[in-house]
Amino acid sequence: MVTDLQIARKVVSLNPATGEILRQFDAATDTDVYAAVADARAAQPAWNALGVRKRVSILREFQRLLHEKKSEVAALITREAGKPMVEALLTEVMVVLDATRFCVENAFDFLREQPVTHGNLAMKTKSGRILREPHGVIGIISPWNYPFSIPATESLSALVTGNAVVLKPSELTSLNALQLASLLHQAGVPKDIFQVVVGDGSAGSALLHAPIDKLVFTGSVGTGKRIAQVAAARLLPVVLELGGKDPMLVLGDADVDVASSGAVWGSFVNCGQACLSVERCYVHRSLYAAFLNACVKKTKCLRVGDGMDPETEIGPLIDERQLRNVEMHVEDARAQGARVLTGGKRLPQLGPNFYAPTVLADVSHAMHIMREETFGPVLPVMPFDTDDEAIRLANDSAYGLAASIWTQDRARGEALARRIHAGTVMVNDAVACFGISEAPHSGVKASGMGRTHGRFGMEEMVRIKYVDSDRLPGLK
Ligand code: NAD
Repeated sequence: MVTDLQIARKVVSLNPATGEILRQFDAATDTDVYAAVADARAAQPAWNALGVRKRVSILREFQRLLHEKKSEVAALITREAGKPMVEALLTEVMVVLDATRFCVENAFDFLREQPVTHGNLAMKTKSGRILREPHGVIGIISPWNYPFSIPATESLSALVTGNAVVLKPSELTSLNALQLASLLHQAGVPKDIFQVVVGDGSAGSALLHAPIDKLVFTGSVGTGKRIAQVAAARLLPVVLELGGKDPMLVLGDADVDVASSGAVWGSFVNCGQACLSVERCYVHRSLYAAFLNACVKKTKCLRVGDGMDPETEIGPLIDERQLRNVEMHVEDARAQGARVLTGGKRLPQLGPNFYAPTVLADVSHAMHIMREETFGPVLPVMPFDTDDEAIRLANDSAYGLAASIWTQDRARGEALARRIHAGTVMVNDAVACFGISEAPHSGVKASGMGRTHGRFGMEEMVRIKYVDSDRLPGLK
């Protein structure tokens, strides 16, 4: 039901490094959102009927265009989301180029009908097959932290499997979603098959209530829970990719130089605003002091600034609200006895949303910094004595998105990986799994349900239909 008063709300796109207004939009009303879904529904059968070969050729053209315009695309990501341009290229544009490659290479085989052999002899006169059919209209609601790669990777697997998409991007990064739409449309995706509705949470709520067939949501746990309640009432299938509090375990046999570089990169990439960021670090007591020294030394060298400056390694946080959350976590830790070894303060001389990359020692699980998502440039480090203790600490969390284990013994790392409650565990790596197109991306516990990326991500975009036919005597 359409419930709003049709008063256009404003959505403002800002440069987080400078506060400059990039553009203002009238937010989509409920009526606009419902109209987008109706148009998508009307257009979807023809898109499905085009067939996978034609859709794949359109995706190939998208890939070509994105490659050609990669610098332009990366520059807009930097201007609207703050991350350094080289990072925008690596963690957004290249991720999407490769996700397109994955769809192009795999969609045909994925959608092929699958004959089913019946083991039961009493059923031998019947033959069955599995069909993978698109849901119809997929709603996608996305966050601001990867404003291009998250909606793009999800949309590509929805589109190639024959769905229409209505995307409600974060109100902080509307321009990047519109840039994605423009590239898809130029490549040949019909306008009604991929639409963007700009707006805040109320536009997202309208999309959730509109007659979509499935919702793929990426965002915070709080919003995810609200969405799950509404979806449950109407039995709308949902994928929820939510927050994380990813642990990093540095075992006693780890190389301190390698592990400290991993920690600094894993905590500060995208200014710590990655769902897969290293959010808490546990180090074997024998390495604790050396590891902290190495992290502090490397952190002090980082160049913080406007992402458009090629010298910059760490950009700003997205906004004041995010900055306050980081400050609150650091102040709570400090008040409870944590030592701030470097950072721990705003950098107002650089612009409105800058915070110094921070390393904390002597933290504990009584502190917010070890229990709640910080989503900022903070590396809190705590010692442990045994592998069992490290696993217990890693699993002592409401979240379960990803984790990393650092060791010179891969077999030991992989054995411990099996004991961690998480959607992904990386051995001697952090964050990077998001860029592996074949790898499923998902969380357990409060980090969500369902998955995106790879073949499992494609499975979320289709309905499984079983067709059975009996070879009745006398029939062909
Ligand atoms: P958020 O939950 O505030 O917003 C996410 C999206 O939901 C936005 O588009 C927002 O407008 C919309 N929204 C807000 N209220 C809504 C409502 N009631 N109904 C429908 N839509 C609504 O999250 P955020 O601050 O944009 O993103 C940061 C969070 O996203 C972090 O917790 C981060 O860990 C998480 N995240 C998770 C993944 C993952 O893959 N698991 C990836 C990136 C970010």
